Amino acid sequence: MSRTRVLTEAAPAFETEVPVAIIGAGAAGLVAALACHGVGIEPLVIERDPVPRGSTSLSAGLIPAPGTRFQRERGIADDATTFAADIQGKAHGHADPALVALVSNAIAPAVEWLADRHGLRFSLVHDFDYPGHSRRRMHGLPSRSGAELVDRLRHAVEAAGIPLLTNARVTTLIRDKSGAVRGFVAERPDGSTECIGARAVVLACCGYAGNKALVRKYIPELADALYFGHPGNEGEAVLWGEQIGAVLRDMGGHQGHGSVAHPQGILISWAVIMEGGFQVNLDGERFWNESSGYSEAGAAVLRQRDGMAWDIFDTRIASVARQFEDFRNAEAQGAVLTAGTTAELAAKAKLPAARLAAALQEVEALKRDRGRDAFARDWSGSVPLAPPYCAVRVTGALFHSQGGLAVDERARVRLEGGGCVPNLFAAGGAACGVSGPEASGYLSGNGLLTAVALGRIAGESAAAVAKAG
Ligand SMILES: Cc1cc2nc3c(=O)[nH]c(=O)nc-3n(C[C@H](O)[C@H](O)[C@H](O)COP(=O)(O)OP(=O)(O)OC[C@H]3O[C@@H](n4cnc5c(N)ncnc54)[C@H](O)[C@@H]3O)c2cc1C
Repeated sequence: MSRTRVLTEAAPAFETEVPVAIIGAGAAGLVAALACHGVGIEPLVIERDPVPRGSTSLSAGLIPAPGTRFQRERGIADDATTFAADIQGKAHGHADPALVALVSNAIAPAVEWLADRHGLRFSLVHDFDYPGHSRRRMHGLPSRSGAELVDRLRHAVEAAGIPLLTNARVTTLIRDKSGAVRGFVAERPDGSTECIGARAVVLACCGYAGNKALVRKYIPELADALYFGHPGNEGEAVLWGEQIGAVLRDMGGHQGHGSVAHPQGILISWAVIMEGGFQVNLDGERFWNESSGYSEAGAAVLRQRDGMAWDIFDTRIASVARQFEDFRNAEAQGAVLTAGTTAELAAKAKLPAARLAAALQEVEALKRDRGRDAFARDWSGSVPLAPPYCAVRVTGALFHSQGGLAVDERARVRLEGGGCVPNLFAAGGAACGVSGPEASGYLSGNGLLTAVALGRIAGESAAAVAKAG
């Protein structure tokens, strides 16, 4: 990390110059590249890995967007104002209102542009609700996997002829005395370096959740948690931001998750909970309101004995979850236990049978009575569970950080004391998101929301700077 630095003087000479440099080739960087190219400027994308994957590839690839034609085809009325209210509702009103308005308005046109201009085959997840979303507005590709999303975006970038420099890790930003960024140094796996000039730079290198020291500093409650995101997200945007006096906002904000199959390490969709399932700890007891959200579930599960819990649901719910590639993989690896009775399920899961049966009975009674439980989970309208029952042993994990560089309406990096760096932009996990400072503020999809919406804005804004200068 000591190599992560900003040079203003004694900078090496540039070997070549590009109009726009985009650092990182996850969803944010690839979308920024397509947007930049779309307005007539060819950017250079720089990626540390041999093949772009990023946290994007580990995600379910679901993007929330209000008022799309995909929603209209399903008869769903939605708009940016409603979406913005849902974002702020989950963030307890602590997200930056200007950023919330910006991305809420930008995301639906961005999703339709990716579909129409670049052939990404989005469809709406129409068969279950996500916590905090008042409308069904998650859009995904056929496999419902982020690997497909990043692959499709990369193919679109390649089809457009945009150069992608892989195996190149940017360590150093170079700026001039006015504070404008002038280029960067990238390091190759063999230790050699390249110094490249740029008229504008987009930071799309995600957040800091892969950097233990930064996690300990900003998210101490998950300092020892399993990190389930991309290991290469080591927080360069934050480290460079600190050195240039950028505004870092909501640094404690993050996406956790409380449903990662253990020991298989596979994400189990929160659909298994929202469709009428629940969680018990290793003592067979429920311990919280699961409908609050999967992000805060990370810490809730980790507080239980051995940091473990079981997701309990049934085969109807399993058939809904099966639309996710991850769930199908979890089944293939034997993570999903199935049994005809709770006693049999308890035996397979090594849970106390009487407690598991009591938990199920209580939940089913609450569903019948349309009641709330002691944790304030509202069971009205929830479909009863029926045998055969299913169970997956899960743990909590840190998925990605949501705090980061604060940006303005053009995705320019804001500076302490006012103003912006005129030619430095941030998108996706590199930028501060719309979740506020806590895990509980993360509304499903907030990650790819700012990757795609801000990625497009940053790409177009960087192109405008490059054209002007
Ligand atoms: C398991 C999991 C499930 C998730 N599910 C969802 C979901 O369904 N919906 C949702 O909205 N969000 C989800 N998220 C969050 C979402 O994946 C991220 O918010 C989003 O992918 C961030 O995109 P990005 O482009 O900013 O980062 P990334 O996709 O991580 O891309 C950053 C890229 O930058 C590269 N890089 C980093 N540093 C450098 C450097 N110094 N030089 C060069 N390259 C560099 C990395 O190698 C990487 O390829 C999930 C996250 C995880 C981990």
